[in-house]
Amino acid sequence: MLMKHAIAAFLLTTFCSCALRAQQDELPLRYAGTITIEDLHEHLSVLASDALEGRETGTRGQKMAAAYIAHQFGDYGLTPLLQTPSGKSYVQGFELFKAGLSTAWVEVKDKKYHSNKDFYFSGTLNMEQADTMKVVYIGSGQATDIQTAGLKGNNVMVKSEGDRKQILELVTELKKHGAEMVFVMTTGTDESFHQMIDGYSRNVAMGKLTLPDKEQHNYFVISPTMGADMLGSSHKNIESETLMQSGQTASFVSLPSIRFEVKQEIQFVSTENVLGMVEGTDKKDEFVIVTAHYDHIGIEGTEVNNGADDDGSGTVAVLEMAQAFALAKKNGHGPRRSVIFMTLTGEEKGLLGSTYYVNHPVVPLASTVSNLNIDMIGRIDSKHTENPDYVYLIGSDKLSSELHELSEKVNTTFTQLDLDYTYNATNDPNRFYYRSDHYNFAKNNIPVIFYFNGTHPDYHKPSDTVEKINFEQLEKRTKLVFHTAWEIANLDHRPKVDAIPEEIKLDTSK
Ligand SMILES: [Zn+2]
Repeated sequence: MLMKHAIAAFLLTTFCSCALRAQQDELPLRYAGTITIEDLHEHLSVLASDALEGRETGTRGQKMAAAYIAHQFGDYGLTPLLQTPSGKSYVQGFELFKAGLSTAWVEVKDKKYHSNKDFYFSGTLNMEQADTMKVVYIGSGQATDIQTAGLKGNNVMVKSEGDRKQILELVTELKKHGAEMVFVMTTGTDESFHQMIDGYSRNVAMGKLTLPDKEQHNYFVISPTMGADMLGSSHKNIESETLMQSGQTASFVSLPSIRFEVKQEIQFVSTENVLGMVEGTDKKDEFVIVTAHYDHIGIEGTEVNNGADDDGSGTVAVLEMAQAFALAKKNGHGPRRSVIFMTLTGEEKGLLGSTYYVNHPVVPLASTVSNLNIDMIGRIDSKHTENPDYVYLIGSDKLSSELHELSEKVNTTFTQLDLDYTYNATNDPNRFYYRSDHYNFAKNNIPVIFYFNGTHPDYHKPSDTVEKINFEQLEKRTKLVFHTAWEIANLDHRPKVDAIPEEIKLDTSK
């Protein structure tokens, strides 16, 4: 690096902008240098150890991981953003619940119908004892019928040809118009009905964790046979649908009373997102959020799913970046925008931690300029054994072409990884864009980049261990995310949103 003064002066004046650029690059490079294999290894050896029992949401292992992360954030000197009775905290705690259906039946005249055979019940209803109710039938519940039917306070029966998702939309619409209980009679055959409820029943059997503030409608999905029985003698009249098509106010038919009972065990489970901030300078009211989920899938039988790659790798990357940014700030080189480092819970249960966060954000979503999300960056997939200097990028161009260009440029300047966009293709059958936490930010029109190493045979297996992590790649990929966050945080203007978000449904099946 020796250089004669004269030449140096010449170069400085001639290539001033280059020199300036080099000077600008020197700072992030200096702090990226604190992201090391040793530190990543140390953190991951704790988080992915057997002692943390696979970090399943709501379990002791998940809470131990949360405590470890919060402790690190404290050590780095991040700003806590949550107010609790005992002071400021890094922990955003919330409750989830799981419902296990123990008994449910419906009696129509003298015939008793049973859950998961004749009907499927969804919701949180838990009754002390059996009760009777009156039900009105509103045909197929078309929008005009709904508006004119005067649903308020009525228990409603409706028929639908739709799938589970369409049924939920219909129920949501009816509840919005004041319907109390809803019975959705499926058209088609009893066989097709059974196929449909098989999936529902499996969720109940698994005791699936759910966010309580996600609308929990109480409703029954019933077989065509049970539906015909509920309609009873009114059946013929109703099937002609003269009432339904007339558009008159009283476009519903009263049905004979039924008896029913729903009893379920509802269990509440507490869990935690962990987040801290490095406050910005002149643009401190705008935020870059860097995320990774720290929960995993727990213990199966006697084997711990350590989740070293999924997503221990992303979690330790977030820790290292938090440390680097915090150090930069301490030295007077802090970012212009504020940067929030957030490790999320409940991802494996259906993106629950990020869903909770976007419903209860600690800083305005409108001022959140980007989300960089990491889920698995510590392994090499079978396509890249020969050229391991790669990472899959997903979503970078979906909302902001500027973010995409910035990301590309950062990589060219600092990390020179092969950025693989295979999974970014709109028609990619894996649909990874919809399958990790960044999607909850993207849904709110916040530009995202999702960093991912692809799949491998140890995915969601006890063999996803620390020994199998490629720490050299983990370090390089962490640096790519770090430099990208640094550039976004120091831009003159926030990355412009110039694309229309794709209207595609969230798929959380993993
Ligand atoms: Zn994951």
